[in-house]
Amino acid sequence: MEEQNSNDGLSRRRFLERSSALLAAAASLPLVAAAQQSADKNGDTHTGVNERQPGPDTKALDAMEMDSAYPPMTDSGGQPPFKYPFSFAHKRIEEGGWTRQVTVRDLPISKKMAGVEMRLVSGGIRELHWHVGAEWAFMTAGSARITAVDQQGRAFVEDVNEGDLWIFPGGIPHSIQGLGPDGCQFLLAFDDGNFNEFETFLLTDWLHHTPKSVLAKNFATTEETFANVPKRELFIFQRDLPRPLAEEKKQVYAQTGPVPNSFAFFTGKMQPTKVTAGGSVKIVDRKNFPASNIAAAIVTLKPGGLRELHWHPNEDEWQYYVKGTGRMTVFAAGGHARTMDFHAGDVGYIDKSAPHYIENTGDTDLVFLEIFPTPEYQDISLGEWLAHTPSRLVNEHLGTGEEFLGKINKKEAVITPE
Ligand code: MN
Ligand code: MN
Repeated sequence: MEEQNSNDGLSRRRFLERSSALLAAAASLPLVAAAQQSADKNGDTHTGVNERQPGPDTKALDAMEMDSAYPPMTDSGGQPPFKYPFSFAHKRIEEGGWTRQVTVRDLPISKKMAGVEMRLVSGGIRELHWHVGAEWAFMTAGSARITAVDQQGRAFVEDVNEGDLWIFPGGIPHSIQGLGPDGCQFLLAFDDGNFNEFETFLLTDWLHHTPKSVLAKNFATTEETFANVPKRELFIFQRDLPRPLAEEKKQVYAQTGPVPNSFAFFTGKMQPTKVTAGGSVKIVDRKNFPASNIAAAIVTLKPGGLRELHWHPNEDEWQYYVKGTGRMTVFAAGGHARTMDFHAGDVGYIDKSAPHYIENTGDTDLVFLEIFPTPEYQDISLGEWLAHTPSRLVNEHLGTGEEFLGKINKKEAVITPE
């Protein structure tokens, strides 16, 4: 309250300079009182007269988006938003589950990729269908039976569990069915920002829009065979659980066999690509998942851990936050920089070559996915760049002293602390 009356409280910069004193003051407050003042992670309660918001104020949202309500001094804004929460998307609820999507229509920066969240109850089926773009998936809860058939009639049937992945290349027909006592939930990412989950090629929709005489001629049967084709698409619907996996594999692999490269990837069987004190990462791309034309990194940051400053020279990055809370600053050149907060269920997007970091700002692990519409994962880290540039030259830019530069790890950290 003192700050409201003090003249020097007008300057936000000066206000921040006093933050260590405020931090000491906040530490002595009871926990509840500190929370009521919405102290940020530096202990700053933003009660300066120049920061108060006497007009309309959505306190719950501001408390979740502190880096927008009170941006770091290094932010200047000036670029379009690069985050969209799935919670803002329309949810289509059917008897067998639900789905919602975040596409370029919701998040204009996300031109090259789109995402879908889907829930299938036990026995719930995402109808047999296909689409132009490739579908990359990450199981976030439960288990599912997935099926597909490739261009040579080779089949694929597999059961996947939480943490597992799949890829269905563009144009390959497939299905998903929830298993177990409570079905599943998963994320789908598509290499097409304009993707629309509600306008895919559905088996029932197609056959309903084909003359029965043509269907009969196509299969050398009678029109009666197709009397029960639904008059409306099924999309997501509930049926009994499937037969045993081995039985369904045996049936569909008859004669033509299975697809040569599995469309499923069992992440739990993979060792992390890198482990540091700050967390771990698993990189899954064509090198270890040959069927996939979409590359991904599954990142776990411990509290305080940092996905180091870096960029991706080969493609845009589409992000999905699975667990925890973090923040990301994207530097967009021309002096533009913005920090946004991320929570489970948020989508993030970074243009190719735009540098960024992700910091775990919560008390629990932060788990997020970096997904790229390209078969090969690539990045360049600030540390690796500076470590392999003449220290004389870097020092002439940054004035850090060459001793510090000589100590930078020659191999990228990926996650700090190392
Ligand atoms: Mn699909
Ligand atoms: Mn990245």
